[in-house]
Amino acid sequence: MKPPPFDYHAPRDLGEALAVLAEAGEHGKVLAGGQSLIPLMNMRLAAPEHLVDINRVAGLDGIEAGPDGVRVGALARHTAVERSEAAARRQPLLRTALRHVAHPVIRNRGTVVGSLVHADPSAELPAVLTLLGGTVRLARHGGTRRDVPAESFFTGPLESALEPGELAVSAFFPALGPRTGTAFHEVARRHGDYAMAGAAALVTLDDDQRIAQARAAFVSAGPVPVLLDLTEVCESRPAASVDWPAVERAVRDRLDPDADIHATAEYRRHLSGVLAARALRAAASVAAGEGH
Ligand code: FAD
Repeated sequence: MKPPPFDYHAPRDLGEALAVLAEAGEHGKVLAGGQSLIPLMNMRLAAPEHLVDINRVAGLDGIEAGPDGVRVGALARHTAVERSEAAARRQPLLRTALRHVAHPVIRNRGTVVGSLVHADPSAELPAVLTLLGGTVRLARHGGTRRDVPAESFFTGPLESALEPGELAVSAFFPALGPRTGTAFHEVARRHGDYAMAGAAALVTLDDDQRIAQARAAFVSAGPVPVLLDLTEVCESRPAASVDWPAVERAVRDRLDPDADIHATAEYRRHLSGVLAARALRAAASVAAGEGH
C-alpha cells in the first residue's frame, strides 16, 4: 500500500524544522523513526500534507543521564537508550521496559520520544513516563518551550497535548529516590507484540524494609496510561507479608479496560492484577537491594 501524496521537508537544524512546522500548522507531521507513522500513512489512516523529517537535524539524539534523571532527545533510538549504561544506572526502568518494545529492527529505528508522542495506550513507554512522573519538552517557532507532565501529556488513544506547529524536543525520566525499586511485567501473545496487559511498578521501602510507597502504571488498561497508588493496600508491611491477592483485587476493581480482538475486558483486568502484584514484588526486592 502507498501513502497519499505529501510534501517532504528535510530541515537541517531545529530552527528550520520549527519554521516549517509553524507554516504547515495542522497539516504538518513530524517524521522521526517512521515505525508508526509510515504504516499509518500506508494504510491511509494518516494523511499529513507536509512531512517534516527531523532525521538530519543535528543535536536531537542526546541521552543525558544525570543525578536527577535521564533526558532523551527526539532522535535517540530505542536501541541507543536501551544500550546506554549511564541511562540504565540513573533510570533502570527505561532499559527494562524497552526490551518489551517491538523487535530489534524496529527498536533500531524507532525513537523513545516518537513513541511518547504517538501515545498508543498499548505502548510501554507512556506507562513508564507516567509511573515516574516524567515530562515531555515541546518547542515551537519563536522560541516558546513548555514541559508537559506525563499526567496531562496523554489525552486519549493516539492523542497527546502536542499542538499543531510543536515539536517534542526531548523527554525527561526522573531518577529514583533512595530505597526505591522498579519493575515491568507484561503479557503479549508473542514477545515484541503490543501487550494485552502490562504493569510498571515502583516501590519505596522505609528503614525497616516496610513498603512506604507502592504505585503502578498500566498498559492496555484504558485510553491513556492508568496510574494507581497501591500504598494503602500494602498496609506498610514488608513485601513478604503483604496480602498480594488483596492487591490483585484492588487493581481489578479500579481498572476499566476495553475489550478487543486480543482479550476480553475481564481477562485484561485479571492479567493487570496478576502483573501488578508480580511487578510490585519485584520492585520491592530491587528496593531491598536483592536485585531483579
Ligand atoms: P514515528 O513513526 O516517526 O512517529 C509517530 C508519531 O509521533 C507521528 O504522529 C509523528 O508525527 C509523531 N512524532 C514523532 N516524533 C515526534 C517529535 N519529536 N515531535 C513531534 N511529533 C513527533 N511500540 C511499543 O511501544 N510497543 C510495541 O510492542 C511495539 N510493537 C511494534 C511492532 C511493530 C511491527 C511496529 C511496526 C511498531 C511497533 N511499535 C511498538 C511502535 C514503535 O515503538 C515506534 O517506533 C514508536 O511507536 C514511534 O516511534 P517513531 O520514532 O518510529 O515515530
